[in-house]
Amino acid sequence: MVSLEDEIKQNGLKVTPQRSKILRYIRENSGKHFSAEDVHKHVVIDNPNIPPATVYNILKMFVDRGLINSFEINGKAIYEGRVEPHVNFSCENCKNIYDFDLEGDLSYLEKNVDGKVISTSVTVRGICRNCLNELEASEKTLAR
Ligand SMILES: [Zn+2]
Ligand SMILES: [Zn+2]
Repeated sequence: MVSLEDEIKQNGLKVTPQRSKILRYIRENSGKHFSAEDVHKHVVIDNPNIPPATVYNILKMFVDRGLINSFEINGKAIYEGRVEPHVNFSCENCKNIYDFDLEGDLSYLEKNVDGKVISTSVTVRGICRNCLNELEASEKTLAR
């Protein structure tokens, strides 16, 4: 298995403890979605002097090389370890982001864009099942 450090090197980047820590954190929490501030909060534990801008630059570097995925929700950049194409469903009520699979063979994307795909991002905004259930329950209470 290729280590994260090897992956960083293979992408032409120098390995630093901060870079390893950031990549490991995001990859080991695949399925979770982080803001740059979330990642910074985690990295400052070991690197108290690291400015948010440095974390942001490292994240951008990883995204540019396809090591992690990034997309925007309501103008805010979100980062995640899951780089395979999938749907990010954002709940407008509880602000949780859920991963859903995209169905079918997506290799046509590569053909259609006539180039190399680095990342694919599909974002859906709505209200999640949990929130819908809660809203329904409170409407029923009000109607009584
Ligand atoms: Zn919700
Ligand atoms: Zn996701």
